[in-house]
Amino acid sequence: MESFQLKTKLLYLLLSVAVGIAVVGFVGYFNLLTMKKNVDTLYFGSLIPLGELSSITSAYHHDLEAGVYRWKAGVVNDEDLTQSITLGLEHVDQMWSSYLSHHKRPEELPYIHYTEEQIDSMKRYFEEIRSLALNHTSRSAISVITLADNTSSIHNTVSQLIAYETAAATYERSILLAHHQNSLMQLAVMLGVILLGVMTFAWRIFMQIEQQQQQLLESSEALKHLNVKLEQASYTDTLTGIFNRRYFNLVYEREFKRALRANKSITFMMIDIDFFKQYNDTYGHLQGDVALQNVAHILKSSLLRPGDFVFRLGGEEFGIILTETDCPNARKMGEKLRFNVESLNMEHKGNKKTGLLTISAGAICIVPTESMNNESLLHSADTNLYAAKERGRNMVVFSNSL
Ligand code: GH3
Ligand code: MG
Ligand code: MG
Repeated sequence: MESFQLKTKLLYLLLSVAVGIAVVGFVGYFNLLTMKKNVDTLYFGSLIPLGELSSITSAYHHDLEAGVYRWKAGVVNDEDLTQSITLGLEHVDQMWSSYLSHHKRPEELPYIHYTEEQIDSMKRYFEEIRSLALNHTSRSAISVITLADNTSSIHNTVSQLIAYETAAATYERSILLAHHQNSLMQLAVMLGVILLGVMTFAWRIFMQIEQQQQQLLESSEALKHLNVKLEQASYTDTLTGIFNRRYFNLVYEREFKRALRANKSITFMMIDIDFFKQYNDTYGHLQGDVALQNVAHILKSSLLRPGDFVFRLGGEEFGIILTETDCPNARKMGEKLRFNVESLNMEHKGNKKTGLLTISAGAICIVPTESMNNESLLHSADTNLYAAKERGRNMVVFSNSL
C-alpha cells in the first residue's frame, strides 16, 4: 500500500466510499422489501382472514341459527326464514371464498379442507330447513337440539381456524420484529465497518501527505542551502576565499550606477603585489599562494563597512570598491591598506627597498556623471597603479578626478 501513488490511494478511498454507500443501500433496500412482505403476510395472510372468519361465525349465529329460532317461535313467517337463510348462506359463501383467496401456508391446508366440508354440510342442513319452510312444513319438524349441536360444531371448527390465524399473526409479528431488529443491527455493523475502513484509509493518506510534505520541505530547504552555496561558490575565489572577478563585474556596474543616481562618490582601487614574480622565484609557488592568501585576508579585514568590497581580480592583483566613504577618507583607507600589508612583516628579499612583501595601489575617487564611462574609472586606477610602480612601489597614487 505504501508504494501506491497518492492519487491512486484517493481514488481507492472514493471507490470504497461509493461501494460502501451502494452496499448499505442494497442491504437497506432488500431489508425493506422483506419487511414489506412480512407486513403483507401479517395483514392479508392473518388479520383480514380473521375478520372474515369472525363474520362467518356471526352469520351462523345471527342470520341462520337465530333466524330458525325466531321462525320456530313464530316471530317470523316461512318467507322471512327462507330469505334470511338464503342471505345467510350467501354471506357465508362470500366470506369463505374471500378467505380462501388469501395466501395459505401448507400446514393449515388439511384443516381448511376439513372446515370447508363442515361448511358444506352446514349449507346442506340449512338448505333442508329452507325447503321445509318453503313447503310450509310444521315448525316442530326441526329439532332444536340438532340445530344447537350443528351451530356449536361449526362455531368450534371456525373458532379453531381463528385461533390458528391468531397464532400465525402473532408468529408473523415476532418475525417482523426480529427482522426489523436484524436489519438495524446489519446496517449498524455495516456502517461501522465502512466508517472504520474509510477512516483508516483516510488516515493513511493523511499520514502520507504529511510525510511527503515534510520530505518536500526538507528537500526545498536543502535546495535553498545548496543554491546559496552554489551562488557563493560562483562568486568566490577558490585560493583566497574573497570575491572573484565575476562578482567584481557585477558589483562594479551596480555600484557605479547607484552612485550616479544618488550623486555620491565611489572609489575604486587597483592593488598589485610588488615584485611578486621574484617572490615566487625565491620562496616557491606554494609560499606565493600563502602570501596571496595573507594579503587577501588583511585587505578584507581592513575593510569592514557594508559598502566596502574586496576582490581578487586575477594573479596578484586585487580590486577594492568603497561606496560609503568620501574621497579624503578613501585616500586614508588606501594608505591604511598599504601600511597593513607591509605590517604583515613577510620577508621578501627581492624587494630591495624594504625587504618585505608590499603592495602598490592606484586609486580613483569621483562622483560619477552621465557623460562618464565606467571603463574610464578602471583605466584611471590602472594608470595610477602604473604611476605607483614607476615611483618606486609600496605606495598609493590617489586622484579624485579623471
Ligand atoms: P611588479 O612589482 O611590477 O608588479 O612585478 P611583479 O613581479 O609582481 O609583476 P608580474 O606581473 O611580472 O608578475 C606577477 C606574478 O604573479 C607572475 C606569477 O608568477 C604570479 N602569480 C600570478 N598568479 C599567481 C597565483 O595564483 N599564485 C602564485 N603563487 N603566484 C601567482
Ligand atoms: Mg601584476
Ligand atoms: Mg606585481
